[in-house]
Amino acid sequence: MPTPTAGDDALADFSPDREYARALDDTDSLSGLRERFSVPEDERYMDGNSLGLCSADAEAAIDRVVAAWKDLAIRGWTDADPDWFHYGERLGARLAPLVGAQESEVVVGNSTTVNIHTLVGTMLDEYEGTTVLVNDLDFPTDHYAIAAQLRQRGLDPDEHLLRVESEDGRTITADAVEVALETHDVDIVFMPTVLYRSGQLLDVARITELAHEHGAVAGFDAAHSVGVVPHSFDDVGVDFAVWCTYKYLNAGPGALAGLYVNERHFGAEPALAGWWGHDKATQFEMNHEFTPAADAGAWQIGTIPVLAAAPLDGSLDVTHDAGIEALREKSTLLTEYLIRLADERLSDLGYAVGTPRDPDRRGGHVALEHDEAYRISQALRDRGVVVDYRPPNVVRVAPSPYYVGFEEVWTVAEDLRAIAADRRFEHYEPQSGGVT
Ligand SMILES: *Cc1c(COP(=O)(O)O)cnc(C)c1O
Repeated sequence: MPTPTAGDDALADFSPDREYARALDDTDSLSGLRERFSVPEDERYMDGNSLGLCSADAEAAIDRVVAAWKDLAIRGWTDADPDWFHYGERLGARLAPLVGAQESEVVVGNSTTVNIHTLVGTMLDEYEGTTVLVNDLDFPTDHYAIAAQLRQRGLDPDEHLLRVESEDGRTITADAVEVALETHDVDIVFMPTVLYRSGQLLDVARITELAHEHGAVAGFDAAHSVGVVPHSFDDVGVDFAVWCTYKYLNAGPGALAGLYVNERHFGAEPALAGWWGHDKATQFEMNHEFTPAADAGAWQIGTIPVLAAAPLDGSLDVTHDAGIEALREKSTLLTEYLIRLADERLSDLGYAVGTPRDPDRRGGHVALEHDEAYRISQALRDRGVVVDYRPPNVVRVAPSPYYVGFEEVWTVAEDLRAIAADRRFEHYEPQSGGVT
């Protein structure tokens, strides 16, 4: 019987059989976390990078807010435990260790898209910037928001929103970012930590260094990494970052987003100002002059939706109990294992791995490419395997380390094999009208 351990050659004695998967499960110190989650019955859930599952902890945190609302009503803002007035700052402090920040540099508020608006807008104003560098594999909302911020400043996005082009359609290299910086005058570099389609983990440290060398600030959309990949934003010198909490952090549909502002930018005027970003000590003096909070709290806008923030309070208990380093280690092993299975069991059937094989360049999911990716995803759903299809040819498989085990991954690989081997996907309609 193999005795797998995490490490460089963790899967050295890899074998594509079920027993090997079970042996990996036996050595998984995080296998107990699954019991804290509601895993949909009869489903194998490989979609935790789109919407993480509900934990008992998250549910209990919502119940606490509802109970306080019933008992205390308006007094909940000050007397609830924890009080609602500082809820965003408090959750920010709890998120800070996951991204390598000081407590004052992180706050919970708004949505990721809104946070891109306010932080990119702030940096454009503060540093009299005109040009933002993104890439052509980005999640679309990032471009929509940045283009809108440019237009509001009278800048044409066709000229001022520059895109680094991917060389292989899957990844963005730091070298390509460097070339763009050497050939254009850029004020803000805004990149994902992990690309939502291929799952590539970009080199945050190198990109930040390059941005600074070229006189630009570096911001990151960390929607696909916070909660599964640890970050060290302070050490690296990242300028700002945004992320969702409903993906790997399991805080529920539409839960409030996180944002990070390096303390060197404290005091900059938020582009989207609102009273919830006011200095807390004097917020209720109701002055018409806006005095922003002295820290990241300044980028909150309106009253914190406490009901949409509460589940994060619970779900962070799970993350902290497990430890982000242990979660990352298990996640890397899960994706490594899935890639090995894809090589051995799927590559002869038209599947290819579109995710970097270097674990240091990989986030929490694996992109399996196949010409029939759309119909394969449909067939998987009917077999109880929940994945995402991403056009044109990617099946995203996200084995969340919070609630997915190795044997489950093994069964998913066998389903992928069966669907392609029997051409069972042919029972499904091809994608129509561009609706995904
Ligand atoms: C999921 C995701 C978003 C979503 O933003 P919302 O404002 O929460 O809708 C933004 N950026 C990236 C990279 C994402 O993966």
